[in-house]
Amino acid sequence: MNDNIVVETRNLTKVFGDGGEVRALDGVNLIVRQGELLSVMGPSGSGKSTLLHLIGALDRPTEGQILIRGQDLATVKNLDRFRNEEVGFVFQLHNLIPTLNAVENVEIPLYEQPLSEKKRRQKAAKLLELVGLGDRLDHLPSQLSGGQRQKVAIARALVNDPAIVLADEPTGNLDSQSGQDVMTLLQELNERQGSTIIVVTHDPAVARTTKRIITLHDGRVARAVPLESPYLEDLRELKDSPLGKSLLEGEIPSELEGLGLEQVKPLLKGILEKV
Ligand code: ADP
Ligand code: MG
Repeated sequence: MNDNIVVETRNLTKVFGDGGEVRALDGVNLIVRQGELLSVMGPSGSGKSTLLHLIGALDRPTEGQILIRGQDLATVKNLDRFRNEEVGFVFQLHNLIPTLNAVENVEIPLYEQPLSEKKRRQKAAKLLELVGLGDRLDHLPSQLSGGQRQKVAIARALVNDPAIVLADEPTGNLDSQSGQDVMTLLQELNERQGSTIIVVTHDPAVARTTKRIITLHDGRVARAVPLESPYLEDLRELKDSPLGKSLLEGEIPSELEGLGLEQVKPLLKGILEKV
């Protein structure tokens, strides 16, 4: 197991209907690493939401496996607790509770944790500051704009420091400026806090703001585009290989002695640590 892999799906398959009528997901293999910001594109009905639901343990696969930080979801006994601790969800409709103000909404996931009322409030307020709503703690959802509500939902998704944030069309209900603000926020959270985020969208402009795009068609991965550079994937593969692991530990396998790797070892190590 590679410990910087946050999500791994193996042959992930979901069939809806008793007679196997709809193959919503059909053998999806996906690896998401710590600190990635990945978008999942694809036409309506291509399986995007199903993929997020399965990764977030809201539903179970028909076939295949999901590993979160190396743990197979099939072996998780308490899925509610798993979800609460490891997954932050952001949906198209923000799902805020209308009678609770912003900070109270963000506190909700913290009720499962042994925190004092004061600590809970402090943590929720800190997250709202982080998403730029430090001056809106007492506002009810009805007193916030669509974009602000979605930011509250993002703060709520992050408040438990989840392993992975899953956002299903988070900009789908917003005007384009608010949508851009929400994506900028997700980018900042990814860059500054190292949050690992999967964003489902059918908007190419939204997808382009992320570092990697995969496209689903009829439940299959159609295209994986490493946006920074196609070579980055090669470097990541090297990093995960036995050679990459040796280099990261500062070792050159004895079989490769004489190639001059010794001189560039620190450089290689530095590069692999970055990708
Ligand atoms: P997307 O999010 O890409 O629009 P979905 O993952 O929601 O697509 O759906 C993929 C396919 O699975 C669609 O054909 C949809 O009708 C079907 N589907 C999704 N959820 C269910 C369900 N609970 N019962 C039956 N069919 C479903
Ligand atoms: Mg969907």
